[in-house]
Amino acid sequence: MGPLRAQFWELPLAALNRAEWEALCDGCGRCCLHKVEDEDTGEIEHTNVACQLLDCSTAQCRDYKHRKAFVPDCLRLTLKIVDNVPWLPETCAYRLRARGAPLRDWHYLISGDRESVVRAGISVAGRVVSEVDAGPLEHHIVDWGDSDAAEEAA
Ligand code: SF4
Repeated sequence: MGPLRAQFWELPLAALNRAEWEALCDGCGRCCLHKVEDEDTGEIEHTNVACQLLDCSTAQCRDYKHRKAFVPDCLRLTLKIVDNVPWLPETCAYRLRARGAPLRDWHYLISGDRESVVRAGISVAGRVVSEVDAGPLEHHIVDWGDSDAAEEAA
């Protein structure tokens, strides 16, 4: 995996080792939510419905290591595809760093506190329902207020 170097989050994404790449995630849980794509327009709408493996109270994956065994289509974010995932939130650490922007002040690597992402209103913890209980996704369309939250929390 490799050691975590000092201030590694300021390095270009391409320079990160595996451990640093993993550690860059802010843990918001937004990428673990279902999206609905309009068949005609291709427009993507967001929902508050979480993957079956997400702990809805903490927004953490309950089995990150083996998630692919349970959820084969779980997206594995890599350097190659990070620019081609349009539904990632504006605040996603990978998205920010891919365009050379700094991490937000509430990112735990900056604040030193894993709960900052919750206090900043970015985490989905406690705000989502599991796909196991949700019913039709169309009943759960939400606007997460991406850019507003990002700017306010910056
Ligand atoms: S959206 Fe980005 S920062 Fe948030 S949990 Fe997913 S990969 Fe991590």
